[in-house]
Amino acid sequence: MRRHARTADREDSVRAIVPPHVFAHMARLSDDSWPGLAERARESLAFAREVRAERCALRGVAPLRTTTPAGGRRTVYDAQHGMSLPGRPVRREGDPATADVSVNEAYDALGATAHYFKKVHARNSIDGRGLPLDATVHYRRSFNNAFWNGRQMVFGDGDGEIFGRFTQSLDIIGHELTHGVTQYEAGLEYEGQSGALNEHMSDVFGSLVKQYALGQTARKADWLIGAGLWAPGVQGIALRSMRAPGTAYDDPRIGRDPQPAHMDGYVDTADDNGGVHINSGIPNHAFYLAAIGFGGRAWVKAGKVWYLALTQTLRRDADFMVAAAATVDAAGTQFGTKGASIVRAAWKLVGIEVKGSAGRQRKARRPKPAARAKGAVKRADPRGAERRHRRAS
Ligand SMILES: [Zn+2]
Repeated sequence: MRRHARTADREDSVRAIVPPHVFAHMARLSDDSWPGLAERARESLAFAREVRAERCALRGVAPLRTTTPAGGRRTVYDAQHGMSLPGRPVRREGDPATADVSVNEAYDALGATAHYFKKVHARNSIDGRGLPLDATVHYRRSFNNAFWNGRQMVFGDGDGEIFGRFTQSLDIIGHELTHGVTQYEAGLEYEGQSGALNEHMSDVFGSLVKQYALGQTARKADWLIGAGLWAPGVQGIALRSMRAPGTAYDDPRIGRDPQPAHMDGYVDTADDNGGVHINSGIPNHAFYLAAIGFGGRAWVKAGKVWYLALTQTLRRDADFMVAAAATVDAAGTQFGTKGASIVRAAWKLVGIEVKGSAGRQRKARRPKPAARAKGAVKRADPRGAERRHRRAS
C-alpha cells in the first residue's frame, strides 16, 4: 500500500545532512584559536530559518507527479552562490557531462539512487510514480550543508576548512533522497524515536545505494555515511558509522561523534528534534548486524526486509520496538524462521528484544505480513509497545 505525503508532511520536511550538534559545538569555539569558525557555525545554525523562508515560496506547490515509465528524469541546477531555488538549469536528463564537477557528481548520484530503487525495489523514483529528480548545486557561498527541502536536493560547496563538497558522497545523496521516500511512505514523524527511525532509514538506503553502485558485499562495505566529507586535516572518517556508531570523528573543532550503538547509551535530549541524528545509531547498528548475519550483499535480504517495513508496515509514530517487530515479521515472511531469527538477534544485540512468535510463519506472499503475524507487537498500541520496551531495556 502506498501512502501519500500530506500537506503537513511537506511543511516540515526540510532535512539537512549535517546534524545540529556539530554546528553547536563549533559555535562555542574561541575565536582566538579558530578564527571565524564559530561565526560560520552560527550562520549554519541559522540556515534552517532561511530555508523555511524559501519554503514559503513552495507552499501549496506539490511535487510534480508523472506516470511516465521513464520516471525520475534528472535536472541539475546552479544557484550560482545565491539562495534562489532551483536556479539556472545546467544539465538535463541525457545531456553530456559539463566542466563542473559538482554538477556531474549530483547528476550521477541522482541517477545511481533512482537506479538502485528501481532495480532492487521496483520503485519508480522517490514517490513511486516517476517524480522528476531536481538538484541544485553551488547553493550560497561556502555553504556547509546539503538538504532535501520536500521537493528537491540542495547542495553547498562546503567551506574547505571543515567540509568539502557535499556532492562527493553518494551515500549522502542517497540518504537525502530516502527522506523523500519516507515522506511518501511511512511518513515517520521527525521527532524522538520515530524521527531517529526516519534518519535511520535514510542511512540504511543511503549506504545501500553506495554498496549497490560499488557491487560490495556487507563484509566489504565501509558502512560509513558521508565518507570523505570532512576537509583534509579534520580528525574524522565520515559523519556516521553504522558498523561502529560513535567512532566517525573526534576533532577539537567539531567535537566527538555522539552516536550510541546500544539502548544503554540512548540519549534523552530536547536538541536535534529529540536526538534524531544521535539515537539513529542504535537501529543503524541493528541493520548492520542483520546484514552481516544474512551475509552476501546487504540489499538482497536485509535491505528488502527494511524496505518492506518502511513501505508496508511502519506508521508515522513508530518507535524502535515497533520497527524491530516489523522487520522481524518481514524477515519471517520473506526468509522463514532463520531469517526472522537473524533479524531478532541483531536487534537484541542493540538492546531491543522482540518477543512472541513474530516472523515464525513460512515464506509467503502477503501484502501486510506484520499486521497478520500472530503474537506480533500490537501496532495499534505504540505506547504499549514502548512500555514493553522500557521494561526490556
Ligand atoms: Zn537526514
